Amino acid sequence: MSEVLKLEKIEKVYNRGEPGEVSVLKGAEIAIEPGEVVAMVAPSGAGKSTLLHIAGLLDTPSSGRVFIGGEDVTELGDRRRTALRRSRIGFIYQFHHLLPEFSAVENIILPQLANGAGQTEARERAEMLLDRVGVAHRADHRPAELSGGEQQRVAFCRALANAPDLLLADEPTGNLDPDTSDRVFGALMELVRDTGLSALIATHNIALANRMDRVVALDAGVVTLGK
Ligand code: ADP
Repeated sequence: MSEVLKLEKIEKVYNRGEPGEVSVLKGAEIAIEPGEVVAMVAPSGAGKSTLLHIAGLLDTPSSGRVFIGGEDVTELGDRRRTALRRSRIGFIYQFHHLLPEFSAVENIILPQLANGAGQTEARERAEMLLDRVGVAHRADHRPAELSGGEQQRVAFCRALANAPDLLLADEPTGNLDPDTSDRVFGALMELVRDTGLSALIATHNIALANRMDRVVALDAGVVTLGK
């Protein structure tokens, strides 16, 4: 079976040719197998977000190739990229980025409607996901009425709303206190394992990283073996 994600010789240069040129990725490579959960550990500024945005088709590399499910998607146009991202990739950020004017359950229904699901089906899936992460009782509350941990659990459900093959997470519990982070991360891992999802999760937290299948580091613009 092909890798869910493969990055080949990825280079990323910001402000190319200008005085402020920054070369962030210098031949970064990674392949993620179906069902594999990989931690990416690196200091701030190493290029984790840049790599995740390229893997998540939110940005394009300066050179190198991106494969999703074995398909070379490097040159795809915007419409195909958006459709692919919506149906196959879930993204979680450090901050929840939920829509403030919608309830928790609505935040998980909306991406499904955008992907062609019907109302009833979308609501059932949203409620099932909220139940899985232990926040079903908060379904009708808006994000501002939820705790940080609850907001992030809802954001996990939103990322999984369209049953993606690949989850990309950028410091998903980095904004929470250590105890909450531990519990919320546990909920995320359970959800990932139950759904057989592949994931690439950037974290500073070595203890959390060690709970994943494999740890890689990002060092001097390339992906290396983690410690
Ligand atoms: P990390 O997520 O590991 O903290 P980032 O990928 O956010 O790292 O950033 C890596 C480097 O690239 C940093 O030096 C940052 O300042 C620079 N950078 C990120 N985005 C841009 C951009 N849009 N334009 C110019 N430089 C950028």
